[in-house]
Amino acid sequence: MSRVIAVSNRVARPRGGSKSAGGLAVGVLAALKEHGGLWFGWNGRTVRGEPGDVTLEEDGRISYATIDLNEQAYELYYNGFSNTSLWPICHYLLGFFRYERREFDAYRRVNALFARKLLPLLQPDDLIWVHDYHLIPLASELRRAGARQPIGFYLHVPFPDIEVLRVLPVYRELLRSLCAYDVVGFQTPRDLRCFKEAIAERDIGGLERADRRNTRPAAPMHADAFPIGIDVDDCQALAMESGEQDNVRRMVRHLHGRQLLIGVDRLDYSKGLPDRFRAFARLLENYPAIRNHVSYLQIAPATRSGVRAYAEIRQELEQLAGKINGEFADIDWVPIRYLNRAFDRPTLMAFFREASVGLVTPLRDGMNLVAKEFIAAQDETDPGVLVLSQLAGAAEELTEAVLVNPYDVDGVADGVHRALSMPREERVERHASMLATLRRNDITAWRSRFVDALLAARQ
Ligand code: ADP
Repeated sequence: MSRVIAVSNRVARPRGGSKSAGGLAVGVLAALKEHGGLWFGWNGRTVRGEPGDVTLEEDGRISYATIDLNEQAYELYYNGFSNTSLWPICHYLLGFFRYERREFDAYRRVNALFARKLLPLLQPDDLIWVHDYHLIPLASELRRAGARQPIGFYLHVPFPDIEVLRVLPVYRELLRSLCAYDVVGFQTPRDLRCFKEAIAERDIGGLERADRRNTRPAAPMHADAFPIGIDVDDCQALAMESGEQDNVRRMVRHLHGRQLLIGVDRLDYSKGLPDRFRAFARLLENYPAIRNHVSYLQIAPATRSGVRAYAEIRQELEQLAGKINGEFADIDWVPIRYLNRAFDRPTLMAFFREASVGLVTPLRDGMNLVAKEFIAAQDETDPGVLVLSQLAGAAEELTEAVLVNPYDVDGVADGVHRALSMPREERVERHASMLATLRRNDITAWRSRFVDALLAARQ
């Protein structure tokens, strides 16, 4: 059986203590679990000079091959081009966008370094699966270095509309790099449409054909939507088994019978947290009878601390939470509990199960796995209600959620109020329909479809 070689910017070791590695790590691990394979990427350490040799570690059927990165290269490639140019563009948040040519140069150099270090580890019948926006040029670099294996790329974030993409000075170069892959996968049909429209531009298509002649006269590139799913049974089992854990019982005790609203996100400006806090305040303003009957728990561990916008949003949220609690709290009630830390999966799933409302209101999101996990973790006979942003990829599948526009503070407040007062029968019906959707397209289906597409590319 072919090995799957997963490549991502960061390798999240299961025993590395990283509790909040995000949706990408969940997906990559799932991709490797069944077949076994190799996960290649950065180890999280930076060094002053040249990065050293690849470190290899085994853990069951999965091998981990990791490298250091030079301190300055990391700053320019990761904090710079990846997270200050590409991330805002992909999330349609142009106010956060900035471009520096030297950051793009470093991005290309780090991709070339990844290719050089990965190449000696490859075997002829491997399937290479590259993950996310940090590594778009990797296939062209690998081909240039002589790799002949099928190479696929999966974009975990949204693919923006061409008119937004055009803001990026080097967008054509990135589109051409994408065309060097055998398989290119997106979260939703909408992302796929945007990609197809972008590469339909005459000059991109022409260069694509020329590039392909130079590098690999193989079958045409296959582009498709592969919406990422979750392990439904695992989430369900964790949610049911973990209810008696000490931290879950403590959380429930402090509710004193109030209805729980929960949000779980990385602390990222794309997650719409300030607007979500404002919508919660608007809920308390517009529906005063609800005061002292609900408790909002927001879990949001800090990420990407090297990017200024992330430090700023952290400050903004602390101020907002303080202001809202100052305005509405009572001697026996704190409206918002805002925790800047990660929790393990069992605890999160049990928290979800206790909640009456799951708040998932990103300003834009590739998929949003939290939305799916929230549904899977519910008690099917008395489920909570998902309030979901129309601008998350998950909204294309979870159409029975209460769908809201995350920018519309009053609209989100109304949506939450509707969720809180929804009759049980309606909750059960909506939940059953969404659970069936999650089962039809779970994490196994996602991985199998992508690996099959890579195998087909080899033939
Ligand atoms: P993103 O990949 O942008 O972070 P997703 O919602 O797609 O967003 O995936 C987030 C993943 O990380 C989910 O599996 C979620 O359970 C997990 N996660 C998010 N926040 C936390 C946290 N505070 N503690 C632990 N895990 C978290």
